[in-house]
Amino acid sequence: MTFQPGLFKGKHALVTGATQGIGAAVANALAALGANVTAVGIDRGDRSLDARVDVRLADVSSEADVAALFGKLSTLDILVNCAGIIRRGWEHDVAVFEQVVAVNLTGTMRICVAARPLLAARRGVIVNTASMLSFFGGAQVPGYAASKGGVAQLTKSLALAYAADGIRVNAVAPGWIATPLTQALQQDQGRSGAILQRTPLGRWGQPEDIADAVAFLCAPASAFITGVILPVDGGYLVA
Ligand code: NAD
Repeated sequence: MTFQPGLFKGKHALVTGATQGIGAAVANALAALGANVTAVGIDRGDRSLDARVDVRLADVSSEADVAALFGKLSTLDILVNCAGIIRRGWEHDVAVFEQVVAVNLTGTMRICVAARPLLAARRGVIVNTASMLSFFGGAQVPGYAASKGGVAQLTKSLALAYAADGIRVNAVAPGWIATPLTQALQQDQGRSGAILQRTPLGRWGQPEDIADAVAFLCAPASAFITGVILPVDGGYLVA
């Protein structure tokens, strides 16, 4: 932990996709820095969340779930959109494509729209989750790549639209991170080897690597940064 303890004391944070993996690391990091954190997931995940974090089950692709979630929130300073799915090999089926876009892209937009009035009242921040596939194509994951390209463009657009409310909007673009989402890849020696060979820093990323970058984008240290897509990838993108 490279930040001052109490950095987010008195702040309320909502993190979607936070019952395991990257979102859970983000929720734990914000809680460790003093924030009052609500973590949202589609299920209870792998139970890696700190006991201080409040867990709510909700589907970001459901208007009713999101309305119910926000009905219980009275203040919000920090929103981190981390909910995401991938359906490798299935996304040429249009119904599956639509499902992936509905969660990753439309779900992010739905949560941002719901959060805007609360964030405006506190001049808050949003951090979205893009991907290397915001920049590259993916033959087996056209829905995931389209949704993550969309998240990058959405982030820039909302940065412009929300600036007058004092809300900063940025995204992190994780490289290859060891989470349940990438378990099959990590276990595939050929593909994991190819990833490591191309990654200049020579290792898989850890969820905490992303959480540190998110904490920076939520902190006053980034007060003049909005509309950026920050790769956190061990150099993969430039290799
Ligand atoms: P994960 O599968 O380990 O966790 C996903 C989380 O999202 C879980 O908490 C799950 O409950 C939640 N979720 C899924 N569908 C949801 C829905 N409809 N509504 C609400 N919550 C939902 O994934 P991860 O690896 O931690 O990925 C988190 C984010 O980071 C995703 O947006 C993913 O696309 C992105 N990402 C991951 C990597 C990586 O290498 N792991 C790389 C780039 C981007």
